[in-house]
Amino acid sequence: MSMGVDDFANWLRDLAGTLHDNAAYLTELDSAIGDADHGSNMDRGFQAVVAVLDETTFESVDELLKKAGMTLVSKVGGASGPLYGTFFLRFGTALAGVEVSAATVGEALRAGVGGILARGKAEVGDKTMYDAWAPALSAYDEAVAGGSDLRGALVAAAEAAAKGRDETVPLIARKGRASYLGERSSGHQDPGATSTTLLLESAARTLG
Ligand code: ADP
Ligand code: MG
Ligand code: MG
Repeated sequence: MSMGVDDFANWLRDLAGTLHDNAAYLTELDSAIGDADHGSNMDRGFQAVVAVLDETTFESVDELLKKAGMTLVSKVGGASGPLYGTFFLRFGTALAGVEVSAATVGEALRAGVGGILARGKAEVGDKTMYDAWAPALSAYDEAVAGGSDLRGALVAAAEAAAKGRDETVPLIARKGRASYLGERSSGHQDPGATSTTLLLESAARTLG
């Protein structure tokens, strides 16, 4: 397995397409407990990432991923732009100068999510994207410890994220716009946990 720039570019293109196809759905989720823009935020951000991919030749995986992160930070207003932007910045930084493997991608995912936590200060159960990321990281590490390759670990992470996403439904939001609703946020699926699951499902389809 030798993974490089083209593989990560394929992932970002696949993810952009998926987010475009799911934009109305993500916005509908955000209309229940937010301001009805999560789908358009993600779609706009990742269309900008695709435009960058189209016009730039990247020499390394970290350069590609850091540029994607900077593009998201600059093109997406709202909470999700800086959060996903920081994820890709730190994910890319962690892959600088290292060979891509199940183990190094696991470390990079953890570094990326560390950036989400540094910015957003979420804890498990706050009804945010971290409720998909946290079980995904655990499942990923468990899969690698059990001998899974990159693809297998990403599949395990995506499945755990989907479960975490579903488990956001009854929660009362304690971070972000949804927290303004208090108890009325319960009964709705978190938009960001939903887009995180799409991100990991796309990675599991395209990487490894
Ligand atoms: P905004 O709420 O600014 O309109 P989006 O609608 O694009 O931004 O994104 C909303 C999502 O961002 C939420 O569903 C939640 O998953 C995530 N989110 C919001 N605040 C935080 C936070 N502090 N930490 C982690 N994720 C957060
Ligand atoms: Mg919103
Ligand atoms: Mg908004």
